[in-house]
Amino acid sequence: MGAQLRIRIDRVDALESGGRAILDYKSGRRTAADWYGERPSHPQLLAYLAALGEDVVAMATVNVTAREVRFDGIANSAELLPKVRGVEGAFGTDPLDAWPIRRQEWLSRVEHLAADFLAGRAVVDPKPGACDYCHVASICRISDRVAATGNDASVSETTHE
Ligand code: SF4
Repeated sequence: MGAQLRIRIDRVDALESGGRAILDYKSGRRTAADWYGERPSHPQLLAYLAALGEDVVAMATVNVTAREVRFDGIANSAELLPKVRGVEGAFGTDPLDAWPIRRQEWLSRVEHLAADFLAGRAVVDPKPGACDYCHVASICRISDRVAATGNDASVSETTHE
């Protein structure tokens, strides 16, 4: 494809039951994870998945606070990581095939994002709520969209991650 990424994964654990888990530490506000939509909520984890190979069986963000360590992720079966659910297969698929099929979908999404980037497609199209806490909103092209519509509310209705 022609894209090379330099990435730094926070942590990769070898699991007792076999396979590896990718962990991504988060310090800020937790966002509800979406693993199945067209625009996954944690594309960085999908990029790590693409980089590491087929023995990855779980991936999660980890929020560490004074009160708790909270995993939010997905795995090829339940409880590989604390309170992390097993992957859901598409309707009618064999549960044993769910992880490899989803994995292929995630890799396709990463490739699609990379292809868009390489093709220079950079539409300002944030996901709902993405701009609410953004610290670079004042220099973002999203303000052009607001100026064009004359409606501030469009900021909170637009989308990107
Ligand atoms: S679209 Fe602009 S303001 Fe919204 S999250 Fe992205 S960079 Fe921030």
